[in-house]
Amino acid sequence: MSSSVALRLPSIDGLLRHPACAPLAERYGRDSLLTGLRQLLDELRPGVLSGQLAAVEIGPEVLAGRVGERLAQQQRSQVRRVFNLTGTVLHTNLGRALLPEEAIEAVQMAARYPLNLEFDLTSGKRGDRDDLIEGLIRELTGAEAVTVVNNNAAAVLLTLNSLGARKEGIISRGELIEIGGAFRIPDIMARAGVRLHEVGTTNRTHARDYQAAIGPRSGLIMRVHASNYSIEGFTARVPTAELAELAHAHGLPLLEDLGSGSLLDLTRWGLPAEPTVRQALLDGADIVTFSGDKLLGGPQAGLIVGRRELIAKIKKNPLKRALRVDKLTLAALEAVLGLYRDPDRLAERLPSLRLLTRPQAEIHAQALRLQPLLANVLGEVWQVSAVEALGMIGSGSQPVARLPSAALCCRPQVSKRWRGRYLLNLEAALRGLPIPVLGRIGDDALWLDLRQLDDEPGWLAQLPRLQVDS
Ligand SMILES: *Cc1c(COP(=O)(O)O)cnc(C)c1O
Repeated sequence: MSSSVALRLPSIDGLLRHPACAPLAERYGRDSLLTGLRQLLDELRPGVLSGQLAAVEIGPEVLAGRVGERLAQQQRSQVRRVFNLTGTVLHTNLGRALLPEEAIEAVQMAARYPLNLEFDLTSGKRGDRDDLIEGLIRELTGAEAVTVVNNNAAAVLLTLNSLGARKEGIISRGELIEIGGAFRIPDIMARAGVRLHEVGTTNRTHARDYQAAIGPRSGLIMRVHASNYSIEGFTARVPTAELAELAHAHGLPLLEDLGSGSLLDLTRWGLPAEPTVRQALLDGADIVTFSGDKLLGGPQAGLIVGRRELIAKIKKNPLKRALRVDKLTLAALEAVLGLYRDPDRLAERLPSLRLLTRPQAEIHAQALRLQPLLANVLGEVWQVSAVEALGMIGSGSQPVARLPSAALCCRPQVSKRWRGRYLLNLEAALRGLPIPVLGRIGDDALWLDLRQLDDEPGWLAQLPRLQVDS
């Protein structure tokens, strides 16, 4: 359409005074609004000059609407809640363990008020932040002492550097693992200044292999719980108790990196057996390291527990200061550890354990309940069924173990060559919801494992907004 009267963009001042912009100034501040309007007008100017834009496209209401959308987008937090329907409970990319209410309250308290982080309220003197959880850790694991750092990777690094720098660390070739995110035992040893002395083979390592490696340069023996893969078949591994005896006979400390490291025997809840910290110490490990946010179900942290004099040495390492935890973590950790005092109620109170132990029948009933609602929203192209599925613990715990679960399985009823595209579109649409829903694609279908769908009303409320491109 051509017009003899040249179109003109509204003026900034005029827009700022326009009633459509007033609420935006109120909400986002005048400066942000001004910047947003300037940017938008700059972008529109060429279109106006070339006559490609119509008058309705540059009306004040339209412009206010567009700026409002942008400001809302900018203001939206980058850290966002999601629905983890991947089937992996302790999902490293999705933040691992969810904290219990007790820990959330403790974090709020620690965030809001001053606290005795490094202050001994009994003596009135300077205290040590590790002391805040030492009593609980001793009670729950039998360890003599504890120190806490940023994560288990830091725990391993700090322990190796404190006890084995410039000496040899003896370790089985079957335990030279990579944990993901480029954390590899040989690399971490090198960075810790420990010379790697690998013994045995990938599948079999014997006591005599360790024995032959021990010499004047030896500094420690290390054992790593191969948490994220399993060796089956013709295998041999020296029991911890035997390895500890060997290490101690030569005056060497035995370190055991348990990875997940459980405080209680998980088989009582029907979960796969995972070595407990207490048992590792009873077997003779001098130092045991494990994560706070894997099976423990707490905040990200690395716990180093064991013999008092070794822990003291670790705490004196200047790296400790660089790797220490903050007050929020300690507050949460203490609250989580406190729940372990009452194992009978742990599965109700600790979200990770509650989710890991949700009965399949209950999840399946939920899937049956939600199936018609999702099917209705997705329309005829999609076949939605409530099916049994297998999930995982995650975070490298028990990689071969599967958690019997139930899922909504969405299959596009289109020819094979289009299926991939449909699945990716559905995946993107779910990801685009106000609270993104994350499932997994496999076997020509998109699976939403419902084990972790706690907030069913919240999930349902946003279903009507689901719009899948075809
Ligand atoms: C997970 C894991 C680590 C690393 O722990 P983070 O808490 O993720 O740093 C180290 N060792 C083992 C055996 C693990 O499974």
